Amino acid sequence: MTTDYTRAYWEKALAETTPRGGMFIDGQLTRSDTGLTFIRIRPMDGKPGAEIARGGIKDIDRAVASARKAFASGVWRKKDPQEKKKIMLRWADLIRKNGAELALLETIDVGKPVMASLNVDVALAANCIQYYAEMCDKLYDEIAPTGPNDRALVRKVPIGVIGAITPWNYPMIIETWKLGPALAAGNSVVLKPAEQSSLTAIRLAELASEAGLPDGVFNVVTGYGEEVGKALACHMDVDMIAFTGSTEVGKLIMGYAASTNLKRVALELGGKSPLVVFADADLDAAASAAAWGCFYNSGETCHASTRLLAERSVVDALVEKIREVTDREITLAHPFEPGAQIGALIEDAHLGKVLGMIEAGVRSGAKRAFGGERVMSETGGYYVSPGVFIAPSNNSSLAQQEIFGPILTVVPFDTEEEAVRIANDTAYGLAGAVFTTDMNRAHRVSEDIHAGTVWVNCYDLSNFATPFGGFKQSGFGRDRSVHAIDKYCDYKTIWQRFS
Ligand code: NAP
Repeated sequence: MTTDYTRAYWEKALAETTPRGGMFIDGQLTRSDTGLTFIRIRPMDGKPGAEIARGGIKDIDRAVASARKAFASGVWRKKDPQEKKKIMLRWADLIRKNGAELALLETIDVGKPVMASLNVDVALAANCIQYYAEMCDKLYDEIAPTGPNDRALVRKVPIGVIGAITPWNYPMIIETWKLGPALAAGNSVVLKPAEQSSLTAIRLAELASEAGLPDGVFNVVTGYGEEVGKALACHMDVDMIAFTGSTEVGKLIMGYAASTNLKRVALELGGKSPLVVFADADLDAAASAAAWGCFYNSGETCHASTRLLAERSVVDALVEKIREVTDREITLAHPFEPGAQIGALIEDAHLGKVLGMIEAGVRSGAKRAFGGERVMSETGGYYVSPGVFIAPSNNSSLAQQEIFGPILTVVPFDTEEEAVRIANDTAYGLAGAVFTTDMNRAHRVSEDIHAGTVWVNCYDLSNFATPFGGFKQSGFGRDRSVHAIDKYCDYKTIWQRFS
């Protein structure tokens, strides 16, 4: 039976839903030790949403102890790989079966269109768990070359207790990027989701438990970053922090690790990704990529194509085409509207920050081509229209700062050399793109842009087979692909001598 996902369907589902805002520790939904909670305000209408447990140090202690106990017992780490695979595959199926509920929870929390939550976020989260489930029984160890009387096994072993700290822009996707490889490798995980997006993290843990994941292998502690996030990153019995979030907090995480137990750290941080368009490019394709690459998810995407570097002779034509694509395809509407392509920003404070950055950019000389204004304020929600601004140079604050809103900054260039220099003139190195019909130039420029992913004549294409992450202040370590497994393992040599 196919469901008709109308606005009325989602309004009814919302009215009938009482989201669970507790923590998930040792296989149980639980309150915080202090009993404290906070109310999450819904970005789509500014109304009070779910009541979330406000965890503290004692809750982190409890969750880490449970994760350590599960790891030490071998209840998951030593499980038959085919059994592990079956449990993770069941979990992926349960995510799909509960897709509409998960999509609703994600949208209540973060304000993105509910159909995007369903068709993109839920679908990719389930696919990610499935991808790593399939790897459980395909991981081999090595035997090193030795003399005839010796045998050296080089084992790839799980690290232990992983603390995962995640952001609010793609909660389920980014959480499963960490959970999939960390669990497939045999670790235990304590997840601290962003305070804005706890609901799907809690449901993911419940569904994992329902699928058969043993108690303690995956725990969720909700609460504030400076409280539970810091407590997790400073914990002496956590072996690694896998963090996705801002560069600012990423630097704090490294400091916490350095000043406590030297736990490993993997950081997926911010970006200010360049999309370089040469005059010989297919301008329609470039305009579509630039608009969708920047405005999807209301620009709340780490690898959004927020800097459009355009050869000077095509700037006006390109901006006009981007306006047309935006008007025609990128519908901003209430997240329950089936046709909504983008929805609300995450919260009132972030709305203020985005509008403030636009104002500062305009004051320092950037010219508004269109959009970039607060809209739909009568709903009580936090909506900003997609906007394009022409910057006087790459030094403009609009071209340097991560705005994390639907704002595209255009910087003109005259030569290939200048385009590459501007593309790399940023603290970040997460992603980039080049549009040209000259394949020699495509090859040169894609090699020279210093970023974790560079697209040629397209943007934001990827699958689980490709690693994702950045250089420079976009962090280090890679999510996705078989290589993500390495991040959650280390080598252990077992040397045997035969007589
Ligand atoms: P954020 O403010 O850095 O928060 C990320 C996580 O860190 C949240 O769970 C947050 O908890 C927690 N946190 C905050 N302060 C902490 C502290 N002192 N100690 C430990 N944890 C702490 O980032 P965000 O605003 O959620 O997300 C947006 C940022 O994430 C952007 O910069 C974006 O580019 C980046 N991002 C990067 C990628 C990537 O793959 N490279 C992907 C997505 C997003 P609270 O929510 O409770 O503060």
